[in-house]
Amino acid sequence: MTRVRFAPSPTGYIHIGNARTALFNYLYAKHTGGEFCLRIEDTDRERSKPEYEEALKKDLDWLGVHWDGEVVRQSARGAIYRASLDQLKAQGDVYPCFCTPEELDSKRQRTLKEKRPPRYDGTCRKLSTEEAGEKIKEGLSFTYRFKIKDPLVEFHDLIKGKISVNLDDMVGDFVVARGDGSPIFHLAVCVDDAEMEITHVVRGEDHLSNTPRHILIFKALGKPVPQFAHMPLILGEDGKPLSKRLGDFSLKAFREKGVLPEGLLNYMALLGWSSGDDKEIFTFDELAKAFSIEKINTSPARFNSEKLRWVMHEHFGKVSDDILSQKTKPFIKSDAGSLYDEAGIKERLVFLKDSAATFEELGSRFDIVFGPAGEPELDGEALSYVKDDSFPKLLKTVKETAQNSKEKYLADINVYKEALKPLGLKGPKLFKPIRLVLTGSLHGPELKLLLPLIPRELVLRRIEKLEKKLEQ
Ligand code: GLU
Repeated sequence: MTRVRFAPSPTGYIHIGNARTALFNYLYAKHTGGEFCLRIEDTDRERSKPEYEEALKKDLDWLGVHWDGEVVRQSARGAIYRASLDQLKAQGDVYPCFCTPEELDSKRQRTLKEKRPPRYDGTCRKLSTEEAGEKIKEGLSFTYRFKIKDPLVEFHDLIKGKISVNLDDMVGDFVVARGDGSPIFHLAVCVDDAEMEITHVVRGEDHLSNTPRHILIFKALGKPVPQFAHMPLILGEDGKPLSKRLGDFSLKAFREKGVLPEGLLNYMALLGWSSGDDKEIFTFDELAKAFSIEKINTSPARFNSEKLRWVMHEHFGKVSDDILSQKTKPFIKSDAGSLYDEAGIKERLVFLKDSAATFEELGSRFDIVFGPAGEPELDGEALSYVKDDSFPKLLKTVKETAQNSKEKYLADINVYKEALKPLGLKGPKLFKPIRLVLTGSLHGPELKLLLPLIPRELVLRRIEKLEKKLEQ
């Protein structure tokens, strides 16, 4: 059975990049009828925080990416790592290294200057067991390095294809544990993947350079080597790695903006994967059915906010009226209850649905168009109409027409057209300012449909606001 895992470090909020890793693992598990596990890699005691672990579980839950079985937490597995380190020690696969960080750094600088790869030069590998034992007795601090015996590592990556690396050219003997027996990343990951019986390691390509080391560790421990798939990175719209502005791309930020998880999931799936045909809008089940690792692209994916919005909009359109109204209400800032009852609010939200892609956007559209406190949107284009010589007269006429009406709603646009005839305005010069005065915005649904939903009282309040704004 396929077993995959998502292995985040709880050192920050998860963003689109980590979430896509989780999603692809999850989809692969669903596609193959396997299991998806969650492992919290919290060995960095200073940077790991319980609140980040809580937040990432909440994010996964919100997305609908649910893990199987118990959460595995690295900080609780010290004894397991120690046992594996003891095995490596007994087999002669690791040796203590007493080189200080300063020594290592100056050697690294030297090799870099000589344009050679900064590999460990093997100083402590040459120490005899007795010499090393003496140094430990003296209380010198040390690490355990993995002794590379066969530096040529070859493997087939399910995305990148054949990879062949000579570790002697790259890193040399590498550190796997501290002197106190606590593991560092490379050892902990392999011990866990082996014990959790992970069959496929699907992770970001930033880990590709670690994989040859991991393969050596799996082999030394006598464990089966999983299959690897390294996904290309996600770049920002500017072509730079997304990691620079992670805050904007955190799932928490998306969630708080009232983004629909179905839409975000769909978009994330398209970041570096395609089904092979033109289909781009998928439900979660359809994604799981269509997903395959082989169809993940080899080149980096580029984040595209317009496309994200389009995909989200497509999913937004499918939300039921009840959910739409329930989830948008927290984003309505104005006191909508002073003008409409529950059904009235819902009717207007449904009416505006097409103009939004998130609950936050819909709430703010509602505020602008139907909210009693909505401010007229006087952006550049709107100002050009307001500054036109004809505007004061247009405003006055619309106001009088609204005041004279006895109806609760000013349903008929023709009444305004008739009243404004003497101004001799035509086309956009007539319709745009009318729209601005009546709805507070140059944008939005067709006026003919919109007007029957705007109470006369609201139009009058809005005109007052506009007048005040113009006086300033
Ligand atoms: N904890 C690692 C990270 O957050 C993931 C390691 C792995 O997937 O093997 O980058």
